[in-house]
Amino acid sequence: MSKDYRTLHDPNAEYTMRKLSAETMGLTAREGPRDVEITDVQTTMVDGNFPWTLVRVYTDAGVVGTGEAYWGAGVPELIERMTPFLVGETPLDIDRLYEHLIQKMSGEGSVEGVTVTAISGIELALHDLAGKLLGVPAYQLLGGKYRDEARVYCDCHTESEADPEACAEEAERVVEQLGYDALKFDLDVPSGHELDRANRHLRPGEIRHKVDIVEAVTERVRDRADVAFDCHWTFSGDSARRLAEAVEDYDVWWLEDPVPPENLAVQREVTDATSTPIAAGENRYRVTEHRRLVEDQAVDIVTPDLPKVGGMRETRKIADVANQYYIPVALHNVASPVGTMASAHVAAAIPNALAVEYHSYELDWWEDLVEETVIEDGAVAVPDEPGLGVTLDMDAVEQHMVDGETLFD
Ligand code: MG
Repeated sequence: MSKDYRTLHDPNAEYTMRKLSAETMGLTAREGPRDVEITDVQTTMVDGNFPWTLVRVYTDAGVVGTGEAYWGAGVPELIERMTPFLVGETPLDIDRLYEHLIQKMSGEGSVEGVTVTAISGIELALHDLAGKLLGVPAYQLLGGKYRDEARVYCDCHTESEADPEACAEEAERVVEQLGYDALKFDLDVPSGHELDRANRHLRPGEIRHKVDIVEAVTERVRDRADVAFDCHWTFSGDSARRLAEAVEDYDVWWLEDPVPPENLAVQREVTDATSTPIAAGENRYRVTEHRRLVEDQAVDIVTPDLPKVGGMRETRKIADVANQYYIPVALHNVASPVGTMASAHVAAAIPNALAVEYHSYELDWWEDLVEETVIEDGAVAVPDEPGLGVTLDMDAVEQHMVDGETLFD
């Protein structure tokens, strides 16, 4: 037995190491990070291109964790409702606290929907907090990293969204001027051939128009960018199959949500029928729902939204299940820099990450919300700072708060 080995297993040495670590973190009155207790949870909503619900978890050590929940009516109220279930708990037991909240809120819809969204916001803040208390980046809490950078794809819009040439021009601009090599455009845009959108049927002219958009964009940025197209759950199974087949020659990155989310059998039939990769998942919650999507091989790519689906660890679990079926993960994301950075940590920590979405390029102050640079050259360089590695700029938060909101303590 070497001297080093003995030292590592000397209980007194371990105590000294814990104490030193605690002192480094400013926890001089405590034996170590496990001694820290949650004292409060607060939210503030910021008026971005979506209402971003920022969440902070406070402790008696003065260390604060910051997270974010996807939007949804009642999310701040649900977080307030859950606060008593967290006060007095150690913030290091992220998994146990998550299951505790799921259990305590089971009568209020913790299987899916806004209750899971609210829990997600807390779960993100706990990862930031635990990382800060332990002095490690959040990706380390998830098992370490596969990559130093998370690739980012840019969700693109134009005022003439139905004009194939305008979409191609925008693709060119985003690739050459903004520096992205991965894009997404909406494909559920009017073609002028619609008679009745409620029946979900695509007429031949509608399909030709969508093919024109796909052709114009993919040919314009060919070999410079991967391009996905989003259909927002609009079409019937038959129409989705015809559309997916019609764009097969253009080698799209993926076709997203061509059919409504409820019926897995239809989803699987569409995916089986085409060589165009089919993606879905942003409207599904927790590993439970994604497991069914993946086990049925109803998708080629799964697209959980991390601040909505259950949080960072839940997304890691989804990625692990997907990986059993060799299915990659593209992280849907419409969040502020906080939620985006949480997605980047997970994208770094899972083997099967494709990319993280960025959905706010119209908003020139998006990155002002935090002190750090988040997206650069079409990627997030995942930080090695403790926790998520982003710091809210409270002046920016205050400037952009939803009317009637109050700033964090
Ligand atoms: Mg989508």
